[in-house]
Amino acid sequence: METPKSRCAGCGVELAAGAHPYRGYYNTSSECWAGYTQVLAVEYQDPVLFAQVHQLTVDTYAVQHAGGEHPDKSVCVHLVGLHLVLERDFKVLEVPTRLQSLVASAPSWPHFSLPGRGSALTAHDVLKAASSREHAGKVREWADQVWAMWSAHHSAVAALAENCFSASGRDAARIR
Ligand SMILES: [Zn+2]
Repeated sequence: METPKSRCAGCGVELAAGAHPYRGYYNTSSECWAGYTQVLAVEYQDPVLFAQVHQLTVDTYAVQHAGGEHPDKSVCVHLVGLHLVLERDFKVLEVPTRLQSLVASAPSWPHFSLPGRGSALTAHDVLKAASSREHAGKVREWADQVWAMWSAHHSAVAALAENCFSASGRDAARIR
């Protein structure tokens, strides 16, 4: 008998059904979420990996699971997270503070129409990595692919990102 499978509404990954039910607002399957939490566990146990990619993992997973009940605010914040690293060369560890500033500035949160579902890596590809180095590489690749899917909104996300920078600390245009 074939094992029943679940298909994730966000990333499209098909996995054997049977995970503990997911009750959050991400547009995800329980099985996809379960794999994601394993990816996070790997990152929490490895300080170097955590510094290199953890926030990228969080932001990429979030925006790959937009739609459904996922609030605009969350999608916006995580898109800005990707923008800061992938377009502005911020270090991954610098992003959470910037995102806190963004939320504190309380801009209005636009609704971005969902991008088409091109094929991209998923958290489950990261989970298969055999080493920390491969894990970090996969997260970078995954983040690039998912960010590219949102290209129609890149300029709007860049505008939203301006709210990350306080009047005194306006280092948005810093030089590498
Ligand atoms: Zn998924």
